[in-house]
Amino acid sequence: MTPKPVNADVLIIGASAAGLMCAIEAGKRGRQVMVLDHANKPGKKILMSGGGRCNFTNTDISADNYISHNPHFCKSALSRFTQWDFIAMVNEYRTPWHERDLGKLFCDNSARDILDMLLAECKKVDVVIRLDCEVENIEKTASGVFETGTSQGTFQTASLVIASGGLSIPKMCASPLGYKVAEQFGLRVWPTSAGLVPFTLQPQEKERLAELSGIAVACTVSTGHIQFNENILFTHRGLSGPAILQISSYWKPGEAITIDLLPDLDLEGLLKTRRATQPNIKLKTLLAEVLPKRLIPAVLGQETADKPLQALSHARIRKIARQLQHWILKPNGTEGYRTAEVTLGGIDCNELSSKTMESEKVAGLYFIGEVVDVTGWLGGYNFQWAWSSGWCAGQVV
Ligand SMILES: Cc1cc2nc3c(=O)[nH]c(=O)nc-3n(C[C@H](O)[C@H](O)[C@H](O)COP(=O)(O)OP(=O)(O)OC[C@H]3O[C@@H](n4cnc5c(N)ncnc54)[C@H](O)[C@@H]3O)c2cc1C
Repeated sequence: MTPKPVNADVLIIGASAAGLMCAIEAGKRGRQVMVLDHANKPGKKILMSGGGRCNFTNTDISADNYISHNPHFCKSALSRFTQWDFIAMVNEYRTPWHERDLGKLFCDNSARDILDMLLAECKKVDVVIRLDCEVENIEKTASGVFETGTSQGTFQTASLVIASGGLSIPKMCASPLGYKVAEQFGLRVWPTSAGLVPFTLQPQEKERLAELSGIAVACTVSTGHIQFNENILFTHRGLSGPAILQISSYWKPGEAITIDLLPDLDLEGLLKTRRATQPNIKLKTLLAEVLPKRLIPAVLGQETADKPLQALSHARIRKIARQLQHWILKPNGTEGYRTAEVTLGGIDCNELSSKTMESEKVAGLYFIGEVVDVTGWLGGYNFQWAWSSGWCAGQVV
């Protein structure tokens, strides 16, 4: 005999940032909520986030910090459940936190504090979380009920919330389920790609820069009309660091990026002045005052780096300044979903209500968090989107 389907007022697929926030809010409204996840633990990405300290939000949040084919879509949710609302929740739990550069807020102790807070809130309102649960199929019956077949039986609900995240870090249980459900129900899905991800380099460049592995430099990195002022990090595979991760979300294959290794410095002026006062000083000795030593010959070549300033004409000095402050690099590609922090693209925002996250076409079907075509910058913006979109759906499901 086949077991009877289990009923829930709200069924949420994905027990992580967006799904748990939605579950808490729906539970507070007295809804009977069940959350399914195929992972063996909830919130795996929360635990690994921010180097284990979870950069849970940012003090400075606006739609400008997000990438989407509909840049206005995120405004409503972000203004209804703000970073201050989430901070208030964190403070209620007396979770110690601190602010780092550019308004990024991190736990003092561990990302576990954030997950424990969400799970405690879920418990208060009797949210049921089923782990190790594989979703096999989803159907909408003629009576408007969603039937979700899983490895743990069939679940029926009038409100189905997809909070299954993107494709980044398959090892952490990422899957394309959300995109497949959207396509099954005729919703448009924008092509996906890896975001906030390190660059790999062309073989020649990789070899030339290999010895720089481990060096970090404060830079301005730009592509097209966008630029970021943060560190870049040379790695044995290519380029990483916050400025590179940020620019990777805007980069298209085949494009070049421009790196200013000495932002805010009049390098040409400095070189010319020192040429007059210290003609015998070697270029590499002077530049070592403002740049890591190993970087200088790698960018300029050993022969140039070894020259005394008096051997450099004004035209050559201008060229050297440009090489360091307008260094053009063509990445070979990115490290892909294996190491990406986020997935760009996803469920077309125009398919959803910006107030409730409900599908405009399919009543009772909701998409929240990273599966939606809203991708934040590095700095706590992605979690804030998960909290805000999850909170909005939680008010109505
Ligand atoms: C290494 C790393 C560090 C990060 N650090 C930060 C940070 O410090 N700050 C920040 O703002 N953002 C950070 N991010 C991004 C952030 O983790 C995500 O944007 C956020 O977790 C998205 O939340 P979500 O709930 O939408 O999806 P997820 O957190 O990805 O959760 C999706 C859930 O759905 C489940 N699931 C997936 N497929 C299925 C399926 N088929 N059946 C059942 N369940 C399924 C998964 O197991 C998972 O539990 C980081 C990401 C990574 C990878």
